[in-house]
Amino acid sequence: MAGQVSVVDKLRELTRNLWWVWQPNDLTLFHILDAELWHETNHNPVEFLNKVPPEKLEAAAEETALHSRIEYAFRRLSEYLANTESWGALHAPALRTRPVAYFSAEFGLHESLPIYSGGLGILAGDHLKSASDLGVPLVGIGLLYAQGYFKQTLDENAWQQEEYLNTKIEMLPIELVKNTDNSELRIQIDTHVGVLQARVWRVEVGRTTLYLLDSNVPENNESDRALTSRLYGGDARVRIRQELLLGVGGVRLLKALDIDPSVLHLNEGHSAFAVIEMIRSRMERDGVPYGEAARDVAAMTVFTTHTPVAAGHDRFPAQLVEEHLGKIREAVHLSYDDFMGLGRVYPGDLNELFCMTVLALKLSRHANGVSALHGRVSRQMWSPLFPNRTEEQVPIGHITNGVHVMSWLSSPMRQIFNRHLGPDWPERMSDTTMWRKIASVDDAELWETQQILKAGLIKFVRGRLVQQAKRRNESAAVIERLNHALDLNVLTIGFARRFATYKRAGLVLRDVERIKEMLASTDRPIQFVFAGKAHPEDHFGKELIQNIAKLSKDPAFSQRLVFVENYDMNVARYLVQGVDVWLNNPRRPQEASGTSGEKVLLNGGLNFSILDGWWAEAYDGTNGFAIGRGESHAMTSVQDDRDHAALIKTLTSEVVPLFYDRDATGLPRGWIARQKSALISLAGRFNADRMVMDYVRNCYLPAAGFQSCAMPKS
Ligand SMILES: *Cc1c(COP(=O)(O)O)cnc(C)c1O
Repeated sequence: MAGQVSVVDKLRELTRNLWWVWQPNDLTLFHILDAELWHETNHNPVEFLNKVPPEKLEAAAEETALHSRIEYAFRRLSEYLANTESWGALHAPALRTRPVAYFSAEFGLHESLPIYSGGLGILAGDHLKSASDLGVPLVGIGLLYAQGYFKQTLDENAWQQEEYLNTKIEMLPIELVKNTDNSELRIQIDTHVGVLQARVWRVEVGRTTLYLLDSNVPENNESDRALTSRLYGGDARVRIRQELLLGVGGVRLLKALDIDPSVLHLNEGHSAFAVIEMIRSRMERDGVPYGEAARDVAAMTVFTTHTPVAAGHDRFPAQLVEEHLGKIREAVHLSYDDFMGLGRVYPGDLNELFCMTVLALKLSRHANGVSALHGRVSRQMWSPLFPNRTEEQVPIGHITNGVHVMSWLSSPMRQIFNRHLGPDWPERMSDTTMWRKIASVDDAELWETQQILKAGLIKFVRGRLVQQAKRRNESAAVIERLNHALDLNVLTIGFARRFATYKRAGLVLRDVERIKEMLASTDRPIQFVFAGKAHPEDHFGKELIQNIAKLSKDPAFSQRLVFVENYDMNVARYLVQGVDVWLNNPRRPQEASGTSGEKVLLNGGLNFSILDGWWAEAYDGTNGFAIGRGESHAMTSVQDDRDHAALIKTLTSEVVPLFYDRDATGLPRGWIARQKSALISLAGRFNADRMVMDYVRNCYLPAAGFQSCAMPKS
């Protein structure tokens, strides 16, 4: 008996650090131990180990050489943690004693830790992971949401239902932060409307630590205990209180932990109150006036803005701001009007709401958008804040988003990279010349790998469709049909993202008859996999989902057009690894970056996208497909018409023919050439290691007082 307890304990200890989520499966092997249970627990190892029958584990231990595997994993983890020759140790030693504090309202690290809703969170999670891999000293600050974001199901009417599930906190790989006397640490914020308190959780992400504030403590009243229940779930009062906790609470937390950051990185404006609290604390510590403290804190602050969509920037009435920040305002000796002016483009305009993005732009010396195009759009958008400068001179640069390769890369593709790029390729992944070696990959090998991945996607989708249909008590005939949905030999197009209006999920389906013809084509058919959530308040987004899901019920479409419910990181992984084509058709220039297409290209899929966000700087004519030529129009209806026409034209005249153009051996050589071109020209640039290195060189080091800032502008 002692033996099996120790296996469980050791596995539990191993998974206490989220490092395991980006290791090859064969190292953690939960799916080998009990695939069904692993799947049922949504890949949560703590829950898995609580539920797996000990006899089963014991029996499997022998068979799978479990002890040796665990020992091996521990050895690798401790080597990883102890590595002193990392990129960060060489290039950012200055940050070692005073790390970067990275603030974000959401972190998407893994599907089993549901504190993210979409791209912003995934980006933050990928940032932490790459900082860890590179050895860049950085701590994350976020919030623990007891219910996370909602679980999506569709009812019989194909109408989105939101279900908020209580996360079992004891099943998360997190630990309460305690004081030296073993009591729980508390963070306190005194406001004009009472005291808000929070406890703090620690999450280990490789070498990086993430701290999560959580208001669910007995000292708070009932409504404050629920303050951090839901991500983006409340009204303005809930949001400002969440943001108070994140920003002000986050800086107090650093102080309580004795961490003196050299850089504050605000990932989005949500956390901008952090700067005010930092100024207050500098004034208190150094006895300096507001102006001097504000200058110093601005110099150490990096702000990343994430969207050109107006509704994506939080704005609060002055009174709400005063209720919550009034005490701090008094402590920094600012008048009510001066303070409110910090959140306004035109400080004298008393009707203007207090905007978190404006606050962040005014109080940071380093600001950036998340793609070259978004940098340009942001300079234009915020130029009224800098009346003495030309648009070109607006101090907002850009660093294009990237994805954490090991989190999104499939195992068969990783093996191809291991063989052709050398086993140490992950350490050199931002070396763009290294990727040229992809040219030597055998065409058939690449194609077969893609087929394997696509088969995996189809199996996954069928399983989900059957599960969805059973929940809705559909007939046996329907279930049988869904169990044969999708065809391995058919060109498979994926579209999965939030159903925000500007992303135009319905664009490709506008001419339904045309699409029906294309799906039913006998020689060159296409098929679609859709997924994504609409914001609970977004009626229009829900209608889009409804339209698509209803089409998928029509027998004429149902084998070749499907909607997978509850898009999350797990669904995303299957999709980005298994599709032939990733469709992205935002209304340019509203997609600041987009990152899902970057996950796709790593796995051999091709992007088929409007020239917006990252794709505007990535597409070179050979590495995927473009929709249109990068036009916009003042009238959205005109733009939508044009883009729809361009989409259908490229789809029918380029994408479909290239996919079905086979040589004597059955290989689509032209297609494979594009896959290789995508990997060669893009993989080295659009990964999170390159992104974090750019932040270090262009933002963190200058903000910490080393070198001057030279953010690229174009
Ligand atoms: C990558 C990812 C996103 C972001 O994708 P976009 O291209 O920015 O829409 C959103 N949600 C999930 C689950 C993801 O994995």
